[in-house]
Amino acid sequence: MKNKPVAVVGAGISGLTISTILKKREVPVEIFEKKDEPGGALKTVNSNGWLLEYGPNTLLLKDKIVADFLRDAGLEEEMVVANENSSKRFIVKNGKPEPLPASIWSAVNTPLFSLKGKLRILGEPFISRSDDPDQTVAEFVERRLGEEVLNYAINPFVAGIFANRPEDLSLRHAFPAMHNLEAEYGSMIWGSFAGAKKRKEQGRIPRKLISFKEGIQQLPETLASQAGKAHYNQKIEKIEKRTGGWFLESNGREFGPYSKVVLNTPLYQIKQSQIPVNDYDFEMLQKVHYPPLSVMYLGFKKDQVEHPLDGFGFLVPELEQRNILGALFSSTLFEGRAPDDRHLLTVFVGGGRQPDHASLPTEKMLNLVMADLQDLLGITGEPVFMDHVYWPNAIPAYHTGYDDILRTLKNVEARNPGLHLAGNFRHGISVPDCIKSGIELADQIAKDLS
Ligand SMILES: Cc1cc2nc3c(=O)[nH]c(=O)nc-3n(C[C@H](O)[C@H](O)[C@H](O)COP(=O)(O)OP(=O)(O)OC[C@H]3O[C@@H](n4cnc5c(N)ncnc54)[C@H](O)[C@@H]3O)c2cc1C
Repeated sequence: MKNKPVAVVGAGISGLTISTILKKREVPVEIFEKKDEPGGALKTVNSNGWLLEYGPNTLLLKDKIVADFLRDAGLEEEMVVANENSSKRFIVKNGKPEPLPASIWSAVNTPLFSLKGKLRILGEPFISRSDDPDQTVAEFVERRLGEEVLNYAINPFVAGIFANRPEDLSLRHAFPAMHNLEAEYGSMIWGSFAGAKKRKEQGRIPRKLISFKEGIQQLPETLASQAGKAHYNQKIEKIEKRTGGWFLESNGREFGPYSKVVLNTPLYQIKQSQIPVNDYDFEMLQKVHYPPLSVMYLGFKKDQVEHPLDGFGFLVPELEQRNILGALFSSTLFEGRAPDDRHLLTVFVGGGRQPDHASLPTEKMLNLVMADLQDLLGITGEPVFMDHVYWPNAIPAYHTGYDDILRTLKNVEARNPGLHLAGNFRHGISVPDCIKSGIELADQIAKDLS
């Protein structure tokens, strides 16, 4: 079994990381991907000088293990760090983008929160711990920081990261760091200060928001060139263990034997006929909801936009009752994202908040989006560039009760020794989280096989 290769199904960032590390540890490995290229959600398109990110736009680098992985892949020179003023983020309040406070002084003066709301934040260290082991993000924030922080900070923040609502996510699973601050220190504010040294010891590095010179897709392309042998246009339809090892089936062709199989496909794409899984476990895994999301790319001449676009972008709280979730100021974030004298905006629509909006036809969506942009950013005239991508199932929602999902994943693996289920549904949805958990799993597999 030991000398047989490991099969990795899915060449998204999870599968590519696992395959790259296995190859590095001298474990033979083969990747199977149903599309004709690597990357999964990571996809960059260069359309006559407009550099569009169809999936992730930025990577938040905060763990040394991830930074080292990118350096070892030879990507350090290719990295670009987000423009300095992208630390400024806007939240819409009363129809106007207001900067999120970045200092104590701006926090005192911000119109985002009333005086009562600000005093409520200062009272956070005096709020006692919850005895609910699996509260929603909304319950946690409202209890500790008050309604205003929930509505005008966390609600838009959750829309920006998960394309979802704080009421629909489990704090412990979606934001474990926040959960741990309360559990360990009894306070988020106090824990943020007191835990700084510990975070450094845990391998945290100063935070950096990055992409790559040619866009995010440089990452999967580089990894694919260093990972194991790849079979593209191969949709795996069956995974089966027989004497001699694991076998895969695609387009009526059989591949194998393999020592192990790592399945990296999203949970909603797992077919019951594909892996050995019982009805109960299969139904449990299908409970994970991936809300739909549309992303619209709009280009304008600079003199069409009144707002200076001096920041990362803006997010819209649900209470503001707008058509969009928010927008990135993409041409401010990184150089070379738009032709000269043009601005590129990346606008998000739908998610768990307004799922019906996500699937609107392009023309209808454009009207809704433009109505908001005209109002919020003072845009005049028609866009000079437009593109639109629709994600029917964008990002998995780590809902309350997610322990049952994690337990089911473990049960499926325990009943099928040699089968591993990996991906953004397990240890965090961000690209860096997928890299981190991919490295850990590959190291474990290499150890098992040594
Ligand atoms: C619109 C959007 C914006 C995002 N923005 C950010 C961001 O700014 N920063 C950030 O860190 N994260 C962001 N994310 C999240 C992040 O991109 C994803 O969580 C991550 O890329 C998922 O990687 P994965 O490898 O686990 O899964 P995927 O990327 O989904 O990869 C799974 C792969 O499996 C393949 N596959 C499926 N079925 C089969 C089969 N039967 N046989 C063979 N192959 C199969 C698929 O084609 C795919 O290539 C964003 C996600 C989306 C959708």
